[in-house]
Amino acid sequence: MNDFMLDEQGRALQDKAREFVKNDVDSEYLRRMDRDEIRFPRQLYEGYAKHHLLGLRFPIAYGGQATSWVNECASMGEVGALGMAAGCAYVMPSIVGEALNAFGSEEQKQRYLKPMLAGKLVSAEALTEPRGGSDFFGASSRAEDKGDHFVVRGMKRFIVGAEGADYFLAYVRTNLADDAPAQQRISAMIIDRGPGVEVKYLYGLMGTRGGGTGRVVFRDVKVPKANLIGPLHGGAMVFHTMMIPERLCSAAPCTGMMQACIDVAMSYADRRKAFGAPIRKFQAVSFMIAKAQMLLDASQAMIYQAARAADCGAPNVRRIVSETKKFVTEAAWDVANLAMQITGGIGYTDVYPIERAVRDTRLAQIWTGTNEVMSAMIQHDLYQEFRASRGRYRDFEGDAMHADDSEKIFDDDDMWKVYDLQK
Ligand SMILES: Cc1cc2nc3c(=O)[nH]c(=O)nc-3n(C[C@H](O)[C@H](O)[C@H](O)COP(=O)(O)OP(=O)(O)OC[C@H]3O[C@@H](n4cnc5c(N)ncnc54)[C@H](O)[C@@H]3O)c2cc1C
Repeated sequence: MNDFMLDEQGRALQDKAREFVKNDVDSEYLRRMDRDEIRFPRQLYEGYAKHHLLGLRFPIAYGGQATSWVNECASMGEVGALGMAAGCAYVMPSIVGEALNAFGSEEQKQRYLKPMLAGKLVSAEALTEPRGGSDFFGASSRAEDKGDHFVVRGMKRFIVGAEGADYFLAYVRTNLADDAPAQQRISAMIIDRGPGVEVKYLYGLMGTRGGGTGRVVFRDVKVPKANLIGPLHGGAMVFHTMMIPERLCSAAPCTGMMQACIDVAMSYADRRKAFGAPIRKFQAVSFMIAKAQMLLDASQAMIYQAARAADCGAPNVRRIVSETKKFVTEAAWDVANLAMQITGGIGYTDVYPIERAVRDTRLAQIWTGTNEVMSAMIQHDLYQEFRASRGRYRDFEGDAMHADDSEKIFDDDDMWKVYDLQK
């Protein structure tokens, strides 16, 4: 337990989340979610709210605890042990709440943020379209301007809470001009479940079941202009801000799942005997345990680093958060698989929950921006930082034994220039 990373408030919140997860959630409820018998975990969601565990970093006036990202991530880590769908229901108010808190009017905060944190309203985030999730700016769902309202038409896919949510934070195209620049095409808006919002719960998911993931069709939905979040055509700005909570909220719950897998695997390795000895005595097994714990600790450290970067508005927060999402989600997958290996054949059955952890954690590398998209952003931002920081550090290249610039040729032009030859 790396509790020493938290302040007093963080430790108290983490304890509260841990107690809730330990005592207030029935295993059968989680099994029913995994069997798709519960389509959206409303009761669980209301439980989070009852214990004042939702949207912890938002102002007290709206039902939050005015705490830091670091402290909120610690609580997310606890709830993550309940599985990916239960964790997603927990973090969704933190994701959608960010847009409302950062860009919403007072009226929008009272109408949507406050009841959401009180567990009275459930939100969902609707970005992905059937034509593609990674190419966000290519969204083709559209809103026609009708004076005091929009008429929204389009389709979103894989929306957690499609079944269950009372309102959707949707990104739709509002600037319909053919030559509209990508960054000025889209708006973010709240779309209430109501006439014209058609939802179908149809995906046979490998894991992360019971979160209400479905298809949402907007069929000429009337949306008041007052539901715009941020400026008209300013969805890109909202989206850029949202990348931080999206990715932190994907990473942080994974640590709960890793901890749970390690607990099960260690207990198994301690009791299971082969060749007359507990299997943990075999290096092949105990080294897997060591590796799993190392991945958990590294993940936790990255999460706290990223959370701290978000708390202090560090200029490179987007790179750090993207790295964290990628590293932690891959580590969670590795840890779940290590736990399965340690538990052998029985780990592959549903006698242990490891198989569910494997099914659940696989998704984390895909949603909220695939890990390839994370890599694309990491290198993009890193090159910008690299260019801006040139000359700031020691010239390490100059320390080479033969720091001979005449041999440093990078393209055809250089060759002619360096040797002063006519081409
Ligand atoms: C269970 C589940 C729940 C989800 N929940 C939500 C939700 O609540 N709200 C929501 O809006 N979305 C949600 N999603 C959608 C998810 O975020 C997308 O599936 C994801 O962003 C990838 O989009 P895609 O599936 O269209 O794949 P594509 O974008 O078609 O990508 C396919 C492959 O191409 C790669 N690729 C694409 N572009 C690039 C590039 N530029 N560089 C390198 N590689 C690239 C991807 O990495 C991937 O490997 C959910 C998905 C699932 C499965």
